[in-house]
Amino acid sequence: MDNKRIIIAIDGHSSCGKSTFAKAIAARLGYIFIDTGAMYRAVTLYALEHGAINSGIVDESQVVAMLPQIEIDFRFNPQRGASDIYVNGDLVEGKIRTIEVSNCVSAVSSIAEVRAKLVAMQQRMGERRGVVMDGRDIGTVVFPEAELKIYMTADPMVRAERRFKELTAKGDKVTIEEIYENVVSRDKADMTRAISPLRKADDAIVLDNSHMSVEQQMEWFDEQYRRVVGC
Ligand code: C5P
Repeated sequence: MDNKRIIIAIDGHSSCGKSTFAKAIAARLGYIFIDTGAMYRAVTLYALEHGAINSGIVDESQVVAMLPQIEIDFRFNPQRGASDIYVNGDLVEGKIRTIEVSNCVSAVSSIAEVRAKLVAMQQRMGERRGVVMDGRDIGTVVFPEAELKIYMTADPMVRAERRFKELTAKGDKVTIEEIYENVVSRDKADMTRAISPLRKADDAIVLDNSHMSVEQQMEWFDEQYRRVVGC
């Protein structure tokens, strides 16, 4: 494939396989994959562990006051073929995808100061291009000039089932009902928040993967990529 390095922005609904798709694209193109949801989750985990979230209620001013103490970095893990996320030098990759974090992350990600800090980091990470970044505002706010923008979605029940399988395979005790509820309420919160709500960029292409395998999604992607880079 052509080696013109571009920015690929992948936004969309919760749990529709954005990261799996983005990771496969990055591996194919030799690009860096950045999971921005992991960054919002890492801040949420820190807030949970440091008393800024109690009984599911997020104390915004406490979270903002904590921000200077939160140092996030990614380190490539060859076993996963992706980068693991660290907070203040601690590996938190295994702790950020619990239902507890999922239930609080939309409230944390709606805080302006949190977004400002993370968006600035994301823009720095994409400076050299050749990145695939997935999230909610990548094509609209972080890289509005991205050459290829994809907006992913899938039927909410299909998404809940996929996430249920993932979490129960790890031994998490969850029910399909609570996951469905989380997926639907996170979409709603992410799409209706005041700052950088999730929305399809005008120039994004929609991918509904409800009934598509990863291989079929990659075939679809190859077509889009060729169209953009012109080979
Ligand atoms: O992608 P993931 O489901 O891990 O994202 C977790 C949450 O982080 C989202 O529900 C959303 O609230 C927030 N997020 C965001 N902007 C991004 C990425 C994630 O607000 N670019």
